[in-house]
Amino acid sequence: MNPSLQGIGMTSLRTRERMIKRLSEQGISHQKVLAIMRDTPRHIFMDEALSSRAYEDTALPIGYNQTISQPYIVAKMTELLLRSSDHLGKVLEVGTGCGYQTAILAQLVDHVYSVERILPLQKKAKIHLWDLKLKNISYLYGDGHQGWPDYAPYDGILASAAPAEIPLSLLQQLAVGGVMVMPVGQNGHQTLQRITRKSSGYDIELLEAVTFVPFLSGKE
Ligand code: SAH
Repeated sequence: MNPSLQGIGMTSLRTRERMIKRLSEQGISHQKVLAIMRDTPRHIFMDEALSSRAYEDTALPIGYNQTISQPYIVAKMTELLLRSSDHLGKVLEVGTGCGYQTAILAQLVDHVYSVERILPLQKKAKIHLWDLKLKNISYLYGDGHQGWPDYAPYDGILASAAPAEIPLSLLQQLAVGGVMVMPVGQNGHQTLQRITRKSSGYDIELLEAVTFVPFLSGKE
């Protein structure tokens, strides 16, 4: 592997292994999720000045008032999505951000369709995901309120920004049997929810209190 991808010191495999140990202690138990997070460099998704903090369990700034989700949240949301089925085909991600969550998903499902409303963030994410040779990802510059109807229905939907209410288009674009994981709520009072589409309607589970950036309208 290219040395900058591999990392040294605070960005090395050893540091990632410590992160994995912490995630297990925090209750993450999906072995494939843990293995992929151990092997995926997280530091390359952030500015060099912050890369030594990449494996701390904290959200860090990625510019444009946005943050990279903390490792625990990435692991938790991915695990919740994967627990729904042994094999996920198409997954819609809303909020590409720096692309780290996208990288984890792309190694666990067939194809990721990722929507981002801030163009420079999307451009940077694409470069990093390309460096990791992850090619099963399609990118849309758009407002996630509309989802991405062209490829619907999706077996899974994951949003990493919090709307006040679940957008209707996302509910409609979820396949029957599919699962959506997203934070819902306003002003710091958000709950992580898992929504499962049944042939007769939607099951909503309220999971844990979380803090995400808001799900905004329009494009920047
Ligand atoms: N998983 C990403 C999270 C970044 S923060 C990471 O770890 O880097 C949330 C992201 O959601 C931001 O990039 C923000 O621009 C994006 N976002 C917010 N509202 C959105 C919307 N309506 N459509 C698409 N992206 C949105």
